[in-house]
Amino acid sequence: MAQLGFIGLGIMGKPMVGHLLAAGHTVRVYDLVEAFVKEMAEKGAVACANSREVASQSDIIIVMAPDTPDVNAVLFGENGVAEGVKPGSIVVDMSSISPIETKVFAMKLADLGVEMLDAPVSGGQVGAEKAILSIMVGGKQEVFDKIKPYFELMGKNIVLIGENGAGQTCKVANQIAVAVTIAATAEALTFASKAGADPAKVREALMGGLAGSRIMELLGERMIARNFQPGFRIRLHQKDLNLALQSARSLHMSIPSTAIAQQMFNAVEARDGTDFDHSAMVLALEELAKHTVA
Ligand code: NAD
Repeated sequence: MAQLGFIGLGIMGKPMVGHLLAAGHTVRVYDLVEAFVKEMAEKGAVACANSREVASQSDIIIVMAPDTPDVNAVLFGENGVAEGVKPGSIVVDMSSISPIETKVFAMKLADLGVEMLDAPVSGGQVGAEKAILSIMVGGKQEVFDKIKPYFELMGKNIVLIGENGAGQTCKVANQIAVAVTIAATAEALTFASKAGADPAKVREALMGGLAGSRIMELLGERMIARNFQPGFRIRLHQKDLNLALQSARSLHMSIPSTAIAQQMFNAVEARDGTDFDHSAMVLALEELAKHTVA
């Protein structure tokens, strides 16, 4: 059995490690937050002091960190993976980060004799907990084939998109669709509420029709219940939309709906901070709907 390592034990990482442990694997873990390492050690993982230690004792090293600079620090920073990793190991970066930097990371690891897959996910905290994540992969077919059985412990819809970076490009596309659908859901529910209809009943009715979606189901419910504890932090969705808007600019294309969704997140951030769940975009629309002509 391969020795597994897992770095980044946040909202997503913890349940993902849980599934690997439940399947009987040894999982060496590290996070900057000591309490998270301790929590997972109590559930059967092996605690490590840093990413180097994880890498030196693992054949497959999974990373689930927030942003591009964090993954860079995990892989190439002091006491990072590159200092301990054995040639022949495989790094699987499941974080959502820059497709361009991803290609650079893969090349730097290749110089150490290490293969890499980019394998960002969709499905959120619920998808991670239920092991039904969608996993979008970039890398070589033969490396994908080796890692697929582990992906199957954490996800359901697992697709090799193309070379390194292609998984991350797919994830950026996903985040465009999610942001714009959140905006549509929030706008529909705010409109219904302002017009005097019960948004909970409206959501129930819409769920069965063409407007029904996973976002209407899960995030629509959060909007109605006023449950904005993350979930998926606005800060992380802003990171993904920045990648989308920057990439669109370099491709000389326009993604106007994404830009509007991003501005609505800006408005929520300005008032409520970046740690609310992304369903809190509804607060920006509610603010706009407050004003009434007498
Ligand atoms: P999170 O902030 O809850 O967890 C990230 C963890 O990484 C934290 O515990 C942090 O301490 C750790 N970390 C950061 N830098 C580190 C370092 N240098 N060394 C070791 N540990 C480090 O974030 P999350 O919600 O679990 O998201 C993780 C990734 O998955 C992000 O890229 C996010 O965009 C993506 N994602 C999240 C969701 C979601 O619903 N939360 C859904 C799909 C994808």
